[in-house]
Amino acid sequence: MVASAPLPGSTEGSLPEAAIENLVIIGSGPAGYTAAIYAARANLAPLLITGFQRGGIPGGQLMTTTHVENYPGFPDGILGPELMDRCKAQALRWGTKLVEADAESLDLSVRPYRLVTSEGETVWTHSLILATGASANRLGISEEERFWSRGISACAICDGATPQFRKEQLAVVGGGDSACEEAVYLTKYGSQVHLIVRSHSLRASAAMADRVLANPAITVHWNREVLAGMGEDWLSAIRLRERTTGATEDLAVRGLFYAIGHTPNTELLQGQLELDARGYLVTRPGRPETSLEGVFAAGDVADAEWRQGITAAGSGCQAALAAERWLTDQQLARPVERQNIEPEPASPTEATATSDAGNFDAAALWQKGGYALRKLYHDSEKPLLVVYTSPSCGPCHVLKPQLKRVLTELEGRALGVEIDIEADPEIAQQAGVTGTPTVQLFFNKQLQQQWQGVKQRREFKAAIEALAAPGA
Ligand SMILES: Cc1cc2nc3c(=O)[nH]c(=O)nc-3n(C[C@H](O)[C@H](O)[C@H](O)COP(=O)(O)OP(=O)(O)OC[C@H]3O[C@@H](n4cnc5c(N)ncnc54)[C@H](O)[C@@H]3O)c2cc1C
Repeated sequence: MVASAPLPGSTEGSLPEAAIENLVIIGSGPAGYTAAIYAARANLAPLLITGFQRGGIPGGQLMTTTHVENYPGFPDGILGPELMDRCKAQALRWGTKLVEADAESLDLSVRPYRLVTSEGETVWTHSLILATGASANRLGISEEERFWSRGISACAICDGATPQFRKEQLAVVGGGDSACEEAVYLTKYGSQVHLIVRSHSLRASAAMADRVLANPAITVHWNREVLAGMGEDWLSAIRLRERTTGATEDLAVRGLFYAIGHTPNTELLQGQLELDARGYLVTRPGRPETSLEGVFAAGDVADAEWRQGITAAGSGCQAALAAERWLTDQQLARPVERQNIEPEPASPTEATATSDAGNFDAAALWQKGGYALRKLYHDSEKPLLVVYTSPSCGPCHVLKPQLKRVLTELEGRALGVEIDIEADPEIAQQAGVTGTPTVQLFFNKQLQQQWQGVKQRREFKAAIEALAAPGA
């Protein structure tokens, strides 16, 4: 372990104390939010950088799953995005400061540590908790780029409901819990699901493996690897290789979903902290301290073995307690004073009702459903932002509040409509939607621009502002 307090080249003396955070947490998965809850309750007013596009999405990996059945406290299970919403609300309730951006660069060679966000903001901090988790791996097969989002996807839960996959043959590659969960999930939409497994057995838990093997809608192809995707405008087949004989065969599928593991999000830390051969952060055995003083790790970024929501949350708690003790020992902690001992209860998020002839409002910033879309498309003179979502899509959950914020900031110069592609599949088909979230910007009944996936608010804002909106 390298210990260094203060380091040569420290800038500590030259910055006003008020400009230095007690604690910055990078990452908003279960590890990051749990660390934030503990640190906020210790009056450290932690600043949490949620992440946005680098290394996952706000809320982390559980935003890409449906039912979480093993997180204690929810006897009937809970949806991943809902669990993360609750963690966020709890962290905010106790005074966590959120920055909705990525950490773009990090300088751990001087103290206080310095971080620059994707919004260009520079942050100085005495201590740091790294909770950047892990990202889904890609196979790198031939034609992967060509068919990415045109049949190939890394998130069955996000994209499975798109019309192109309905009643079609689909494939999932992988042999662990995620692959099995995705295969079972896709049987809701596909006519048959093919699970492509590299070896002769599943690595998934026994309960999950049994569920797959007992499901007549799933065919397991053992000892196979995927070589290539094939097709015209959309994936129509994949080429498989039997790993012992080398024999190849083509399998007609319209969808290929990757569930082949994850890589820890440690690019920012290369050359600055001790990493193992696979890129995981190295900590003191069984503890959150990294190779630098005041820098702690939590969750999957430092855990190649357990990688669960609850273990990530547990290590987030350890990291926050360790950071608090370290700040106190170093006499660096500047606790904030609480105005109310008991903070206000967290406010629940409200769902938007689907618009119909009875409740449609031509001036509402945000509405839902085909009725509102038709009315606004034909009658409104304002730019119209249409977001196509599906109920279990975590990235959609992340994007919607961002879009609502853009519309609020534009003070009614543009309007928004949400289309749930499960409720309105014909609209999604007509619009050529190939995955969720997809956002289309219309003006004068013309499609102006389209985005797929989670994007920064400023991109939508700039596109709307560039349109000459009458009445603006
Ligand atoms: C499909 C699926 C299903 C799962 N189901 C379960 C389950 O049922 N039960 C269970 O216990 N576990 C489950 N897991 C595992 C669980 O999701 C992870 O173990 C857990 O989310 C790890 O939490 P974490 O906080 O360490 O990291 P993550 O959840 O990966 O979060 C990492 C965070 O870091 C952010 N980040 C990354 N890079 C940067 C950067 N440069 N700047 C700022 N932020 C950054 C990301 O945006 C993200 O918010 C599942 C995982 C998957 C993929």
